[in-house]
Amino acid sequence: MATKIIYFTVNGRPEQAEFPVTCPAQDVKDLFRSAAEAGPHDILKLYNPKGNIINISPNLEPNKPNTCYKLEVVASGCNSEPLGVELAGALGFDLSSMEKRQWEDAEIMVLLQVMYTDLDFIATYNIEPEVLQQFLFEVYRRYNNIPFHNFKHCFCVTQMMYGLIWLTDLRSKMDSIDLLIMLTSAICHDLDHTGYNNAYQINARTELALRYNDISPLENHHCAVTFDILEKKESNIFRNVSPDQYKRIREGIIKCILATDMTRHNEILSKFKSILSSFDFDNKDHRDVLMMILIKVSDISNEARPMEVAEPWLDCLLQEFYNQSDAEKLEGLPVTPFMDRDKITKPSSQTGFIRFVLLPLFIELANLFPCLELHIIDPVRKALDYYTEMEKALEREKQNRAPCENGFKGKEIAVGQTSAPEASNSDTQ
Ligand SMILES: [Zn+2]
Repeated sequence: MATKIIYFTVNGRPEQAEFPVTCPAQDVKDLFRSAAEAGPHDILKLYNPKGNIINISPNLEPNKPNTCYKLEVVASGCNSEPLGVELAGALGFDLSSMEKRQWEDAEIMVLLQVMYTDLDFIATYNIEPEVLQQFLFEVYRRYNNIPFHNFKHCFCVTQMMYGLIWLTDLRSKMDSIDLLIMLTSAICHDLDHTGYNNAYQINARTELALRYNDISPLENHHCAVTFDILEKKESNIFRNVSPDQYKRIREGIIKCILATDMTRHNEILSKFKSILSSFDFDNKDHRDVLMMILIKVSDISNEARPMEVAEPWLDCLLQEFYNQSDAEKLEGLPVTPFMDRDKITKPSSQTGFIRFVLLPLFIELANLFPCLELHIIDPVRKALDYYTEMEKALEREKQNRAPCENGFKGKEIAVGQTSAPEASNSDTQ
């Protein structure tokens, strides 16, 4: 029988793995696991010589000792005490602490596993650790390497959702299955995002726009990719739930992910406002709207983080916007105004967004959960002050540089700011 030999190092120690080409995936994983002396819940990261993470599977590209791969083990938070303690602190109530240092992708996957454990999903829904790991790896693989809508954005949104669940003590108010839906939706909500928003998809008549008839092409796609991952037995974290539960989970995830299309912002927010005064956690319609609001808040919660975390993310978002408007110009498509590098500045893009989209949304959620005021509204108000100041400084600078020219440009920006949320920079977040 044909076999493959893979050369790799673990902690600088050369190792090799030999297995038949038809070897089951799990056996290949176990082989690497034992070579690394890793525990059953640890995460293995295999890197090629270029430093890219590669999937441990029977399809691994055979190599030579001089082009060997590098295997790394990340201890799972569930097993290793020191890391476990660190994670517990980081995952608790301080929504920002963990991002002060750069977290690596494999560590992030461990953190996501800890969230499932922590919220009792593992035990309640009988999720096998290997299946959860495989699911997270598939998710990781299917986020693209683009400036903003990447795996780390998925993590930020999920972390915020996790934080909100604890801060609002949602576990005592809602079914655990709703929380499972929300956390999983957060993880999957931007799967395979291409970096070009719905307006581009529709104007460029992309495959996605054609497939979904211009109706939330991206969000429909994120959802379809989610269930593609869940169709595979080895990555279906819901494979042990009852058909009725699965049905409810599927409905819920679809509803939550589709709610992240910002063109539906006003519709969803108005619905929430209309039920707020009589909000009832026993009413399914009310809970459904709340779930949509929570994923929306998590999705655009960047400005609730400390400035040193939030600002680099804004730079990434603008980079993605500029890439799109550059492509639009190149392809002769309508240029999305809030993405045009000739029309917007960093502060101008942000002040309008915070004033007209973020704050009105966050304030309504804090009406239901007053404790959130401190955690998400105060920092957003600070961010608004910060960008308002930056905007004024830019204005002054411009006036000093070209006193007669700036009147027109300034006006253009001001018009952009006061536009409806649909036309603001929130569109693809
Ligand atoms: Zn998102």
